[in-house]
Amino acid sequence: MPRGAALLADPLLNKGTAFTERERDALGLRGLLPPRVFTLGEQLQRSLAAVRRKSDNLEKYIYLANLQNRNEVLFYRLVVDHVEEMVPLIYTPTVGQACLEYGAIYRRSRGLFITLRERGRIAEILREWPHEGVRLIVVTDGERILGLGDLGALGMGIPIGKLALYTACSGVHPYYTLPITLDVGTDSKPLLDGEFYIGIKQRRARGAAYDEFIEEFVDAVGTVFPQALLQWEDFGNTNAFRLLQKYRTRLPSFNDDIQGTAAVALAGLMAALPLLGGPLAQQRILFLGAGEAGTGIADLFVAALRSEGMSEADARARCWFFDSKGLVVQSRLGELAEHKLPYAHAHAFIPTLAEAVEVIKPTALIGVSGMPQTFTQEIVSAMARLNRRPAIFALSNPTSKAECTAEQAYTWSEGRAVFASGSPFAPVEFGGQRFLPGQGNNIYIFPGVGMGALTCGAREVSDAMFLAAARTLAGLASGDDLAVGRVYPSLTRIREVSLAIATAVAEEAYASGLATVPRPADLKADIRSRMFEPVYRDYV
Ligand code: NAD
Repeated sequence: MPRGAALLADPLLNKGTAFTERERDALGLRGLLPPRVFTLGEQLQRSLAAVRRKSDNLEKYIYLANLQNRNEVLFYRLVVDHVEEMVPLIYTPTVGQACLEYGAIYRRSRGLFITLRERGRIAEILREWPHEGVRLIVVTDGERILGLGDLGALGMGIPIGKLALYTACSGVHPYYTLPITLDVGTDSKPLLDGEFYIGIKQRRARGAAYDEFIEEFVDAVGTVFPQALLQWEDFGNTNAFRLLQKYRTRLPSFNDDIQGTAAVALAGLMAALPLLGGPLAQQRILFLGAGEAGTGIADLFVAALRSEGMSEADARARCWFFDSKGLVVQSRLGELAEHKLPYAHAHAFIPTLAEAVEVIKPTALIGVSGMPQTFTQEIVSAMARLNRRPAIFALSNPTSKAECTAEQAYTWSEGRAVFASGSPFAPVEFGGQRFLPGQGNNIYIFPGVGMGALTCGAREVSDAMFLAAARTLAGLASGDDLAVGRVYPSLTRIREVSLAIATAVAEEAYASGLATVPRPADLKADIRSRMFEPVYRDYV
Protein backbone atom coordinates (compact mmCIF):
# COMPACT_ATOMS: atom_id res chain seq x y z
CA MET A 1 0.00 0.00 0.00
CA PRO A 2 1.63 3.26 -1.09
CA ARG A 3 1.54 6.23 1.31
CA GLY A 4 1.46 10.01 1.10
CA ALA A 5 1.97 11.63 -2.29
CA ALA A 6 2.44 8.23 -3.98
CA LEU A 7 -1.02 7.17 -2.76
CA LEU A 8 -2.61 10.35 -4.11
CA ALA A 9 -0.90 9.75 -7.46
CA ASP A 10 -2.35 6.24 -7.84
CA PRO A 11 -5.75 6.62 -9.57
CA LEU A 12 -6.91 3.16 -8.51
CA LEU A 13 -6.37 3.91 -4.82
CA ASN A 14 -6.74 7.66 -4.60
CA LYS A 15 -9.88 9.01 -2.90
CA GLY A 16 -8.84 12.66 -2.95
CA THR A 17 -10.77 14.69 -0.42
CA ALA A 18 -12.69 11.58 0.66
CA PHE A 19 -9.79 10.10 2.66
CA THR A 20 -11.07 9.85 6.23
CA GLU A 21 -9.39 11.47 9.25
CA ARG A 22 -8.03 8.08 10.32
CA GLU A 23 -6.68 7.32 6.85
CA ARG A 24 -5.03 10.73 6.63
CA ASP A 25 -3.11 10.02 9.85
CA ALA A 26 -2.32 6.39 9.14
CA LEU A 27 -1.27 6.84 5.50
CA GLY A 28 0.86 9.98 5.73
CA LEU A 29 -1.71 12.22 4.06
CA ARG A 30 -2.08 14.85 6.77
CA GLY A 31 -1.30 18.22 5.27
CA LEU A 32 -1.35 16.94 1.69
CA LEU A 33 -5.11 17.44 1.38
CA PRO A 34 -7.45 20.32 2.21
CA PRO A 35 -8.81 19.74 5.73
CA ARG A 36 -12.48 19.09 5.00
CA VAL A 37 -13.47 15.48 4.38
CA PHE A 38 -16.07 14.94 1.63
CA THR A 39 -18.22 11.90 0.86
CA LEU A 40 -18.18 10.14 -2.52
CA GLY A 41 -21.69 11.53 -3.10
CA GLU A 42 -20.47 15.08 -2.52
CA GLN A 43 -17.48 14.56 -4.80
CA LEU A 44 -19.84 13.18 -7.42
CA GLN A 45 -22.02 16.28 -7.35
CA ARG A 46 -18.96 18.51 -7.65
CA SER A 47 -17.59 16.57 -10.62
CA LEU A 48 -20.97 16.45 -12.33
CA ALA A 49 -21.30 20.21 -11.97
CA ALA A 50 -17.78 20.64 -13.36
CA VAL A 51 -18.62 18.55 -16.45
CA ARG A 52 -21.88 20.40 -17.03
CA ARG A 53 -20.24 23.80 -16.66
CA LYS A 54 -18.12 23.14 -19.75
CA SER A 55 -19.92 24.13 -22.90
CA ASP A 56 -17.72 22.19 -25.31
CA ASN A 57 -17.88 18.38 -25.51
CA LEU A 58 -14.16 18.02 -26.14
CA GLU A 59 -13.51 20.03 -22.96
CA LYS A 60 -15.84 17.68 -21.11
CA TYR A 61 -13.89 14.73 -22.53
CA ILE A 62 -10.61 16.24 -21.33
CA TYR A 63 -12.04 16.86 -17.86
CA LEU A 64 -13.30 13.27 -17.65
CA ALA A 65 -9.99 11.83 -18.91
CA ASN A 66 -8.16 13.77 -16.23
CA LEU A 67 -10.62 12.59 -13.61
CA GLN A 68 -10.05 9.00 -14.74
CA ASN A 69 -6.31 9.48 -14.38
CA ARG A 70 -6.77 10.98 -10.90
CA ASN A 71 -9.50 8.96 -9.19
CA GLU A 72 -11.03 5.96 -10.94
CA VAL A 73 -13.71 5.23 -8.36
CA LEU A 74 -15.10 8.74 -8.69
CA PHE A 75 -14.80 8.63 -12.49
CA TYR A 76 -16.72 5.34 -12.72
CA ARG A 77 -19.33 6.44 -10.15
CA LEU A 78 -20.02 9.41 -12.40
CA VAL A 79 -20.24 7.29 -15.57
CA VAL A 80 -22.38 4.57 -13.97
CA ASP A 81 -24.83 6.96 -12.31
CA HIS A 82 -25.17 9.20 -15.37
CA VAL A 83 -24.60 6.68 -18.13
CA GLU A 84 -26.78 8.29 -20.82
CA GLU A 85 -25.05 11.64 -20.34
CA MET A 86 -21.48 10.33 -19.93
CA VAL A 87 -21.21 7.58 -22.58
CA PRO A 88 -21.43 10.02 -25.52
CA LEU A 89 -18.69 12.06 -23.82
CA ILE A 90 -16.21 9.30 -23.02
CA TYR A 91 -16.99 7.36 -26.21
CA THR A 92 -18.80 8.07 -29.48
CA PRO A 93 -19.36 10.64 -30.76
CA THR A 94 -16.97 12.79 -28.65
CA VAL A 95 -14.12 10.27 -28.72
CA GLY A 96 -13.91 10.77 -32.50
CA GLN A 97 -13.12 14.44 -32.02
CA ALA A 98 -10.76 13.53 -29.18
CA CYS A 99 -8.82 11.15 -31.44
CA LEU A 100 -8.54 13.77 -34.18
CA GLU A 101 -7.00 16.10 -31.62
CA TYR A 102 -5.23 13.48 -29.53
CA GLY A 103 -1.82 15.00 -30.10
CA ALA A 104 -2.99 18.41 -28.94
CA ILE A 105 -4.96 17.24 -25.89
CA TYR A 106 -2.43 14.62 -24.77
CA ARG A 107 -1.76 15.12 -21.05
CA ARG A 108 -0.73 11.93 -19.37
CA SER A 109 0.12 8.47 -20.56
CA ARG A 110 -2.46 5.73 -20.35
CA GLY A 111 -1.93 2.36 -21.99
CA LEU A 112 0.96 1.23 -24.18
CA PHE A 113 2.18 2.46 -27.54
CA ILE A 114 4.12 -0.27 -29.34
CA THR A 115 5.76 0.78 -32.59
CA LEU A 116 7.46 -0.99 -35.46
CA ARG A 117 10.74 0.09 -33.94
CA GLU A 118 10.12 -2.26 -31.03
CA ARG A 119 10.23 -5.37 -33.24
CA GLY A 120 12.06 -8.11 -31.40
CA ARG A 121 11.30 -6.69 -27.94
CA ILE A 122 7.51 -6.48 -27.70
CA ALA A 123 7.36 -8.87 -24.73
CA GLU A 124 9.84 -6.63 -22.93
CA ILE A 125 7.55 -3.62 -23.52
CA LEU A 126 4.51 -5.51 -22.23
CA ARG A 127 6.43 -6.37 -19.09
CA GLU A 128 6.90 -2.64 -18.47
CA TRP A 129 3.19 -2.36 -17.77
CA PRO A 130 2.88 -1.70 -14.02
CA HIS A 131 -0.03 -4.10 -13.35
CA GLU A 132 0.37 -7.85 -13.25
CA GLY A 133 -2.12 -10.36 -14.54
CA VAL A 134 -3.77 -8.27 -17.25
CA ARG A 135 -7.03 -9.97 -18.28
CA LEU A 136 -8.40 -7.69 -20.97
CA ILE A 137 -6.58 -5.90 -23.78
CA VAL A 138 -8.18 -3.67 -26.40
CA VAL A 139 -5.77 -3.09 -29.28
CA THR A 140 -5.95 -0.93 -32.39
CA ASP A 141 -3.56 -0.12 -35.20
CA GLY A 142 -5.47 3.09 -35.88
CA GLU A 143 -6.23 2.37 -39.52
CA ARG A 144 -10.02 2.75 -39.42
CA ILE A 145 -10.95 4.82 -36.41
CA LEU A 146 -14.77 4.97 -36.26
CA GLY A 147 -15.87 6.48 -39.58
CA LEU A 148 -12.80 8.76 -39.55
CA GLY A 149 -10.30 6.57 -41.34
CA ASP A 150 -6.57 6.30 -40.75
CA LEU A 151 -5.57 8.24 -37.63
CA GLY A 152 -2.40 6.29 -36.87
CA ALA A 153 -1.25 6.68 -33.27
CA LEU A 154 -4.04 9.18 -32.55
CA GLY A 155 -6.38 6.20 -32.39
CA MET A 156 -5.35 5.55 -28.78
CA GLY A 157 -8.54 7.25 -27.56
CA ILE A 158 -10.49 4.23 -28.81
CA PRO A 159 -8.95 1.42 -26.71
CA ILE A 160 -8.96 3.71 -23.67
CA GLY A 161 -12.62 4.58 -24.19
CA LYS A 162 -13.70 1.01 -24.89
CA LEU A 163 -12.04 -0.27 -21.74
CA ALA A 164 -13.70 2.47 -19.70
CA LEU A 165 -17.03 1.22 -21.08
CA TYR A 166 -16.14 -2.34 -20.06
CA THR A 167 -15.58 -1.25 -16.48
CA ALA A 168 -18.62 1.01 -16.34
CA CYS A 169 -21.04 -1.39 -18.05
CA SER A 170 -20.01 -4.88 -17.03
CA GLY A 171 -17.67 -4.25 -14.12
CA VAL A 172 -14.38 -5.56 -15.49
CA HIS A 173 -11.93 -4.30 -12.86
CA PRO A 174 -9.84 -1.44 -14.29
CA TYR A 175 -6.69 -2.91 -12.74
CA TYR A 176 -6.85 -5.80 -15.20
CA THR A 177 -7.40 -3.74 -18.35
CA LEU A 178 -4.76 -2.60 -20.82
CA PRO A 179 -5.27 -0.29 -23.83
CA ILE A 180 -2.69 -0.75 -26.61
CA THR A 181 -1.96 1.11 -29.82
CA LEU A 182 0.20 -0.64 -32.37
CA ASP A 183 1.88 2.15 -34.28
CA VAL A 184 2.69 0.73 -37.70
CA GLY A 185 2.77 4.13 -39.37
CA THR A 186 0.00 6.01 -41.13
CA ASP A 187 -0.96 6.74 -44.70
CA SER A 188 -2.56 10.04 -43.73
CA LYS A 189 -0.56 12.80 -45.36
CA PRO A 190 -1.83 15.56 -43.04
CA LEU A 191 -0.64 13.51 -40.06
CA LEU A 192 2.73 12.70 -41.62
CA ASP A 193 3.21 16.37 -42.42
CA GLY A 194 1.79 17.54 -39.09
CA GLU A 195 4.14 19.33 -36.73
CA PHE A 196 2.70 17.77 -33.57
CA TYR A 197 1.78 14.26 -34.74
CA ILE A 198 2.59 11.88 -31.86
CA GLY A 199 3.21 8.69 -33.84
CA ILE A 200 6.09 7.42 -35.93
CA LYS A 201 6.38 9.32 -39.18
CA GLN A 202 6.35 6.69 -41.87
CA ARG A 203 3.90 5.08 -44.26
CA ARG A 204 1.85 2.19 -42.90
CA ALA A 205 3.63 -1.17 -42.89
CA ARG A 206 1.92 -3.74 -45.12
CA GLY A 207 2.49 -7.34 -46.15
CA ALA A 208 5.11 -9.43 -44.38
CA ALA A 209 6.46 -6.55 -42.27
CA TYR A 210 2.98 -5.96 -40.83
CA ASP A 211 2.12 -9.63 -40.39
CA GLU A 212 5.39 -10.44 -38.61
CA PHE A 213 4.90 -7.52 -36.26
CA ILE A 214 1.37 -8.67 -35.36
CA GLU A 215 2.58 -12.24 -34.97
CA GLU A 216 5.23 -11.15 -32.48
CA PHE A 217 2.66 -9.04 -30.63
CA VAL A 218 0.19 -11.92 -30.29
CA ASP A 219 2.98 -14.26 -29.14
CA ALA A 220 4.13 -11.71 -26.59
CA VAL A 221 0.60 -11.25 -25.22
CA GLY A 222 0.30 -15.03 -24.84
CA THR A 223 3.60 -15.18 -22.99
CA VAL A 224 3.36 -12.13 -20.74
CA PHE A 225 -0.39 -12.14 -20.08
CA PRO A 226 -1.50 -15.74 -20.67
CA GLN A 227 -4.93 -15.09 -19.16
CA ALA A 228 -5.74 -12.09 -21.32
CA LEU A 229 -8.65 -11.71 -23.69
CA LEU A 230 -7.73 -9.64 -26.74
CA GLN A 231 -10.21 -7.37 -28.50
CA TRP A 232 -9.22 -6.20 -31.99
CA GLU A 233 -10.54 -2.71 -32.52
CA ASP A 234 -10.79 -0.43 -35.54
CA PHE A 235 -8.41 -2.29 -37.82
CA GLY A 236 -8.76 -1.64 -41.55
CA ASN A 237 -11.00 -3.92 -43.52
CA THR A 238 -8.11 -5.75 -45.24
CA ASN A 239 -6.55 -6.79 -41.93
CA ALA A 240 -9.59 -7.10 -39.64
CA PHE A 241 -11.05 -10.30 -41.14
CA ARG A 242 -7.66 -11.95 -41.62
CA LEU A 243 -6.42 -11.27 -38.12
CA LEU A 244 -9.65 -12.44 -36.56
CA GLN A 245 -9.58 -15.73 -38.48
CA LYS A 246 -5.88 -16.28 -37.89
CA TYR A 247 -5.86 -15.65 -34.16
CA ARG A 248 -9.31 -16.38 -32.78
CA THR A 249 -8.42 -19.95 -31.86
CA ARG A 250 -4.84 -19.16 -30.83
CA LEU A 251 -5.88 -16.93 -27.99
CA PRO A 252 -9.27 -15.77 -26.79
CA SER A 253 -9.96 -12.82 -29.05
CA PHE A 254 -12.70 -11.13 -31.01
CA ASN A 255 -13.34 -8.14 -33.22
CA ASP A 256 -16.06 -5.84 -31.97
CA ASP A 257 -16.53 -4.06 -35.30
CA ILE A 258 -17.39 -7.38 -36.91
CA GLN A 259 -18.84 -9.58 -34.16
CA GLY A 260 -20.12 -7.03 -31.64
CA THR A 261 -21.91 -5.10 -34.37
CA ALA A 262 -23.34 -8.35 -35.67
CA ALA A 263 -24.80 -9.27 -32.30
CA VAL A 264 -26.32 -5.87 -31.61
CA ALA A 265 -27.92 -5.65 -35.05
CA LEU A 266 -29.22 -9.22 -34.89
CA ALA A 267 -30.62 -8.53 -31.42
CA GLY A 268 -32.48 -5.52 -32.83
CA LEU A 269 -33.94 -7.67 -35.60
CA MET A 270 -34.91 -10.44 -33.17
CA ALA A 271 -36.54 -7.96 -30.81
CA ALA A 272 -38.44 -6.45 -33.73
CA LEU A 273 -39.95 -9.78 -34.89
CA PRO A 274 -43.27 -9.30 -33.07
CA LEU A 275 -43.66 -6.06 -35.06
CA LEU A 276 -42.31 -7.37 -38.38
CA GLY A 277 -44.43 -10.51 -38.21
CA GLY A 278 -43.01 -13.94 -38.98
CA PRO A 279 -40.02 -15.69 -37.47
CA LEU A 280 -36.37 -14.88 -38.14
CA ALA A 281 -36.30 -17.63 -40.77
CA GLN A 282 -38.77 -15.65 -42.89
CA GLN A 283 -36.82 -12.39 -42.86
CA ARG A 284 -34.90 -11.31 -45.93
CA ILE A 285 -32.16 -8.74 -45.42
CA LEU A 286 -30.69 -6.32 -47.91
CA PHE A 287 -27.48 -4.69 -46.71
CA LEU A 288 -26.13 -1.45 -48.08
CA GLY A 289 -22.38 -1.80 -47.50
CA ALA A 290 -20.47 -5.08 -47.50
CA GLY A 291 -17.68 -4.36 -45.04
CA GLU A 292 -16.86 -5.55 -41.54
CA ALA A 293 -20.19 -4.56 -40.06
CA GLY A 294 -22.42 -5.86 -42.87
CA THR A 295 -20.86 -9.26 -43.45
CA GLY A 296 -20.45 -9.68 -39.68
CA ILE A 297 -24.20 -9.20 -39.22
CA ALA A 298 -25.02 -11.55 -42.10
CA ASP A 299 -22.69 -14.26 -40.78
CA LEU A 300 -24.33 -14.17 -37.36
CA PHE A 301 -27.82 -14.11 -38.88
CA VAL A 302 -26.82 -17.24 -40.83
CA ALA A 303 -25.49 -18.83 -37.63
CA ALA A 304 -28.83 -18.06 -35.94
CA LEU A 305 -30.84 -19.66 -38.75
CA ARG A 306 -28.55 -22.69 -38.81
CA SER A 307 -29.07 -23.16 -35.08
CA GLU A 308 -32.81 -23.28 -35.89
CA GLY A 309 -32.19 -26.07 -38.41
CA MET A 310 -31.92 -24.21 -41.72
CA SER A 311 -29.15 -25.22 -44.15
CA GLU A 312 -26.25 -22.83 -44.60
CA ALA A 313 -27.08 -22.27 -48.27
CA ASP A 314 -30.72 -21.45 -47.51
CA ALA A 315 -29.70 -19.12 -44.72
CA ARG A 316 -27.19 -17.27 -46.88
CA ALA A 317 -29.79 -16.96 -49.62
CA ARG A 318 -31.78 -14.72 -47.26
CA CYS A 319 -28.94 -12.14 -47.16
CA TRP A 320 -28.24 -9.78 -50.03
CA PHE A 321 -25.52 -7.20 -50.32
CA PHE A 322 -25.31 -3.98 -52.24
CA ASP A 323 -21.84 -2.40 -52.16
CA SER A 324 -20.31 0.68 -53.79
CA LYS A 325 -20.48 -1.01 -57.23
CA GLY A 326 -23.97 -2.49 -57.05
CA LEU A 327 -25.62 -5.78 -56.12
CA VAL A 328 -23.12 -8.42 -55.03
CA VAL A 329 -23.69 -11.26 -57.51
CA GLN A 330 -21.76 -14.14 -59.05
CA SER A 331 -20.90 -12.30 -62.26
CA ARG A 332 -18.66 -10.06 -60.09
CA LEU A 333 -16.73 -12.95 -58.50
CA GLY A 334 -13.35 -11.84 -59.87
CA GLU A 335 -13.48 -8.41 -58.25
CA LEU A 336 -15.08 -9.28 -54.89
CA ALA A 337 -13.17 -9.36 -51.60
CA GLU A 338 -13.17 -12.76 -49.94
CA HIS A 339 -15.61 -11.88 -47.16
CA LYS A 340 -18.29 -11.03 -49.73
CA LEU A 341 -18.01 -14.27 -51.71
CA PRO A 342 -20.46 -16.36 -49.64
CA TYR A 343 -23.15 -13.78 -50.43
CA ALA A 344 -22.56 -13.46 -54.17
CA HIS A 345 -25.76 -15.09 -55.42
CA ALA A 346 -26.55 -16.38 -58.90
CA HIS A 347 -28.69 -13.44 -59.92
CA ALA A 348 -28.65 -10.69 -62.52
CA PHE A 349 -26.58 -7.66 -61.59
CA ILE A 350 -28.60 -4.66 -60.36
CA PRO A 351 -26.95 -1.23 -60.44
CA THR A 352 -29.21 0.81 -58.11
CA LEU A 353 -30.39 0.25 -54.56
CA ALA A 354 -33.94 1.35 -55.43
CA GLU A 355 -34.18 -1.35 -58.09
CA ALA A 356 -32.62 -3.93 -55.78
CA VAL A 357 -35.31 -3.21 -53.17
CA GLU A 358 -38.04 -3.75 -55.76
CA VAL A 359 -36.57 -7.02 -57.01
CA ILE A 360 -35.38 -8.59 -53.76
CA LYS A 361 -38.28 -7.35 -51.62
CA PRO A 362 -36.39 -7.35 -48.33
CA THR A 363 -38.18 -7.31 -44.99
CA ALA A 364 -35.19 -5.51 -43.49
CA LEU A 365 -32.90 -2.90 -45.00
CA ILE A 366 -29.64 -2.44 -43.09
CA GLY A 367 -27.29 0.44 -43.84
CA VAL A 368 -23.64 -0.09 -42.96
CA SER A 369 -22.04 1.81 -45.83
CA GLY A 370 -20.86 5.03 -44.17
CA MET A 371 -22.75 6.79 -47.00
CA PRO A 372 -25.26 9.40 -45.77
CA GLN A 373 -28.73 9.88 -47.24
CA THR A 374 -28.62 6.73 -49.34
CA PHE A 375 -31.97 5.51 -47.97
CA THR A 376 -33.94 7.99 -50.03
CA GLN A 377 -37.65 8.72 -49.82
CA GLU A 378 -38.20 6.46 -52.83
CA ILE A 379 -36.42 3.57 -51.11
CA VAL A 380 -38.04 3.96 -47.68
CA SER A 381 -41.52 4.31 -49.22
CA ALA A 382 -40.89 1.21 -51.32
CA MET A 383 -39.96 -0.72 -48.17
CA ALA A 384 -43.20 0.51 -46.58
CA ARG A 385 -45.20 -0.54 -49.64
CA LEU A 386 -43.64 -4.00 -49.64
CA ASN A 387 -43.99 -4.61 -45.88
CA ARG A 388 -46.61 -3.77 -43.28
CA ARG A 389 -43.77 -2.97 -40.85
CA PRO A 390 -40.38 -2.68 -42.63
CA ALA A 391 -37.17 -2.83 -40.59
CA ILE A 392 -34.98 0.12 -41.52
CA PHE A 393 -31.65 0.13 -39.69
CA ALA A 394 -29.42 3.08 -40.62
CA LEU A 395 -26.34 2.04 -38.69
CA SER A 396 -23.61 4.21 -40.16
CA ASN A 397 -21.80 6.52 -37.73
CA PRO A 398 -21.54 9.30 -36.84
CA THR A 399 -25.00 10.85 -37.15
CA SER A 400 -23.92 12.78 -40.23
CA LYS A 401 -23.21 9.48 -42.04
CA ALA A 402 -26.54 7.79 -41.28
CA GLU A 403 -28.26 6.38 -44.38
CA CYS A 404 -31.39 8.28 -43.32
CA THR A 405 -32.52 10.09 -40.20
CA ALA A 406 -35.08 8.74 -37.76
CA GLU A 407 -37.51 11.42 -38.81
CA GLN A 408 -37.14 10.52 -42.50
CA ALA A 409 -37.67 6.82 -41.77
CA TYR A 410 -40.88 7.47 -39.83
CA THR A 411 -42.21 10.14 -42.17
CA TRP A 412 -41.51 8.32 -45.43
CA SER A 413 -42.97 5.06 -44.08
CA GLU A 414 -46.01 6.79 -42.58
CA GLY A 415 -44.88 5.83 -39.11
CA ARG A 416 -44.56 2.11 -39.91
CA ALA A 417 -40.76 1.71 -40.03
CA VAL A 418 -39.11 -0.22 -37.23
CA PHE A 419 -36.08 2.00 -37.07
CA ALA A 420 -32.67 1.65 -35.41
CA SER A 421 -29.58 3.74 -35.88
CA GLY A 422 -25.87 3.60 -35.12
CA SER A 423 -25.76 7.08 -33.56
CA PRO A 424 -28.40 8.50 -31.26
CA PHE A 425 -31.39 10.35 -32.70
CA ALA A 426 -33.75 12.55 -30.72
CA PRO A 427 -37.38 11.41 -30.25
CA VAL A 428 -39.63 11.99 -33.27
CA GLU A 429 -43.31 13.02 -33.23
CA PHE A 430 -45.27 11.64 -36.16
CA GLY A 431 -48.98 11.14 -36.67
CA GLY A 432 -49.74 11.87 -33.03
CA GLN A 433 -47.24 9.26 -31.86
CA ARG A 434 -43.91 9.82 -30.13
CA PHE A 435 -41.13 7.50 -31.32
CA LEU A 436 -37.93 6.87 -29.36
CA PRO A 437 -35.47 5.55 -31.97
CA GLY A 438 -33.34 2.68 -30.70
CA GLN A 439 -29.59 2.99 -30.96
CA GLY A 440 -27.84 -0.21 -32.06
CA ASN A 441 -24.86 0.63 -29.95
CA ASN A 442 -22.21 -2.09 -29.55
CA ILE A 443 -22.04 -1.06 -25.90
CA TYR A 444 -25.02 -3.36 -25.33
CA ILE A 445 -22.93 -6.37 -26.36
CA PHE A 446 -19.15 -6.28 -25.95
CA PRO A 447 -18.92 -5.49 -22.21
CA GLY A 448 -21.10 -8.49 -21.35
CA VAL A 449 -19.38 -10.79 -23.85
CA GLY A 450 -15.94 -9.87 -22.50
CA MET A 451 -16.98 -10.20 -18.87
CA GLY A 452 -18.65 -13.56 -19.51
CA ALA A 453 -15.63 -14.92 -21.39
CA LEU A 454 -13.25 -13.71 -18.69
CA THR A 455 -15.09 -15.08 -15.70
CA CYS A 456 -15.27 -18.61 -17.10
CA GLY A 457 -11.75 -18.45 -18.55
CA ALA A 458 -13.03 -19.10 -22.09
CA ARG A 459 -10.32 -20.56 -24.35
CA GLU A 460 -12.00 -19.00 -27.34
CA VAL A 461 -14.78 -16.49 -28.01
CA SER A 462 -17.11 -18.41 -30.30
CA ASP A 463 -19.87 -17.30 -32.67
CA ALA A 464 -22.28 -19.22 -30.45
CA MET A 465 -21.37 -16.86 -27.62
CA PHE A 466 -22.27 -13.84 -29.74
CA LEU A 467 -25.50 -15.55 -30.70
CA ALA A 468 -26.26 -16.13 -27.02
CA ALA A 469 -25.52 -12.45 -26.38
CA ALA A 470 -27.84 -11.34 -29.20
CA ARG A 471 -30.69 -13.56 -27.98
CA THR A 472 -30.28 -12.31 -24.44
CA LEU A 473 -30.27 -8.68 -25.50
CA ALA A 474 -33.33 -9.19 -27.72
CA GLY A 475 -35.15 -10.74 -24.78
CA LEU A 476 -34.50 -7.67 -22.66
CA ALA A 477 -36.29 -5.21 -24.96
CA SER A 478 -39.65 -4.96 -23.24
CA GLY A 479 -43.13 -4.46 -24.66
CA ASP A 480 -42.91 -0.86 -23.47
CA ASP A 481 -39.69 -0.39 -25.45
CA LEU A 482 -41.29 -1.82 -28.59
CA ALA A 483 -44.42 0.29 -28.11
CA VAL A 484 -42.34 3.44 -28.56
CA GLY A 485 -40.41 1.93 -31.47
CA ARG A 486 -37.26 1.06 -29.54
CA VAL A 487 -35.84 -2.39 -30.21
CA TYR A 488 -33.29 -2.12 -27.39
CA PRO A 489 -33.65 -1.66 -23.64
CA SER A 490 -32.84 1.74 -22.19
CA LEU A 491 -29.14 2.41 -21.68
CA THR A 492 -29.88 3.10 -18.02
CA ARG A 493 -30.26 -0.71 -17.63
CA ILE A 494 -26.80 -1.38 -19.06
CA ARG A 495 -25.32 -3.09 -15.97
CA GLU A 496 -28.29 -5.45 -15.73
CA VAL A 497 -28.10 -6.09 -19.50
CA SER A 498 -24.35 -6.75 -19.37
CA LEU A 499 -24.72 -9.11 -16.41
CA ALA A 500 -27.41 -11.07 -18.25
CA ILE A 501 -25.23 -11.29 -21.37
CA ALA A 502 -22.12 -12.25 -19.39
CA THR A 503 -24.10 -15.04 -17.75
CA ALA A 504 -25.45 -16.30 -21.09
CA VAL A 505 -21.98 -16.18 -22.66
CA ALA A 506 -20.37 -18.08 -19.77
CA GLU A 507 -23.27 -20.57 -19.86
CA GLU A 508 -22.57 -21.17 -23.55
CA ALA A 509 -18.84 -21.60 -22.82
CA TYR A 510 -19.61 -24.27 -20.21
CA ALA A 511 -22.05 -26.00 -22.53
CA SER A 512 -19.55 -26.13 -25.40
CA GLY A 513 -16.53 -27.10 -23.31
CA LEU A 514 -14.67 -23.84 -23.88
CA ALA A 515 -14.63 -22.78 -20.21
CA THR A 516 -11.49 -23.54 -18.22
CA VAL A 517 -12.53 -22.69 -14.66
CA PRO A 518 -14.94 -24.87 -12.65
CA ARG A 519 -18.56 -23.81 -12.95
CA PRO A 520 -19.86 -22.01 -9.87
CA ALA A 521 -23.21 -23.21 -8.51
CA ASP A 522 -24.89 -19.88 -9.23
CA LEU A 523 -23.24 -18.47 -12.32
CA LYS A 524 -25.07 -15.14 -12.33
CA ALA A 525 -24.44 -14.47 -8.64
CA ASP A 526 -20.78 -15.38 -9.14
CA ILE A 527 -20.39 -12.92 -12.02
CA ARG A 528 -22.31 -10.24 -10.14
CA SER A 529 -19.93 -10.64 -7.18
CA ARG A 530 -16.95 -10.01 -9.47
CA MET A 531 -18.30 -6.81 -10.99
CA PHE A 532 -16.28 -3.75 -10.07
CA GLU A 533 -18.43 -1.38 -8.01
CA PRO A 534 -17.27 2.22 -7.91
CA VAL A 535 -17.30 2.67 -4.13
CA TYR A 536 -14.47 3.50 -1.75
CA ARG A 537 -12.94 0.82 0.46
CA ASP A 538 -11.73 1.61 3.96
CA TYR A 539 -7.95 1.40 4.06
CA VAL A 540 -7.57 1.48 7.85
P1 NAD B 1 -16.12 -0.99 -43.95
O1 NAD B 1 -15.21 0.03 -44.48
O2 NAD B 1 -15.61 -2.34 -43.59
O3 NAD B 1 -17.34 -1.24 -45.02
C1 NAD B 1 -18.02 -0.24 -45.70
C2 NAD B 1 -18.72 -0.88 -46.87
O4 NAD B 1 -19.57 0.07 -47.47
C3 NAD B 1 -17.80 -1.41 -47.95
O5 NAD B 1 -18.23 -2.67 -48.37
C4 NAD B 1 -17.99 -0.43 -49.09
O6 NAD B 1 -17.82 -1.04 -50.34
C5 NAD B 1 -19.42 -0.03 -48.89
N1 NAD B 1 -19.74 1.24 -49.52
C6 NAD B 1 -19.00 2.35 -49.59
N2 NAD B 1 -19.63 3.28 -50.31
C7 NAD B 1 -20.80 2.75 -50.70
C8 NAD B 1 -21.89 3.21 -51.48
N3 NAD B 1 -21.89 4.42 -52.00
N4 NAD B 1 -22.92 2.39 -51.67
C9 NAD B 1 -22.93 1.16 -51.14
N5 NAD B 1 -21.94 0.68 -50.39
C10 NAD B 1 -20.88 1.46 -50.18
O7 NAD B 1 -16.84 -0.35 -42.72
P2 NAD B 1 -17.71 -1.08 -41.59
O8 NAD B 1 -16.86 -1.41 -40.43
O9 NAD B 1 -18.50 -2.16 -42.20
O10 NAD B 1 -18.66 0.11 -41.14
C11 NAD B 1 -19.61 0.66 -42.03
C12 NAD B 1 -20.48 1.66 -41.30
O11 NAD B 1 -21.18 1.00 -40.27
C13 NAD B 1 -19.68 2.79 -40.64
O12 NAD B 1 -20.31 4.02 -40.90
C14 NAD B 1 -19.79 2.49 -39.19
O13 NAD B 1 -19.86 3.67 -38.42
C15 NAD B 1 -21.08 1.72 -39.08
N6 NAD B 1 -21.07 0.83 -37.91
C16 NAD B 1 -22.12 0.92 -37.03
C17 NAD B 1 -22.14 0.13 -35.91
C18 NAD B 1 -23.29 0.21 -34.98
O14 NAD B 1 -24.22 0.90 -35.25
N7 NAD B 1 -23.29 -0.47 -33.88
C19 NAD B 1 -21.09 -0.74 -35.65
C20 NAD B 1 -20.04 -0.83 -36.57
C21 NAD B 1 -20.04 -0.03 -37.71
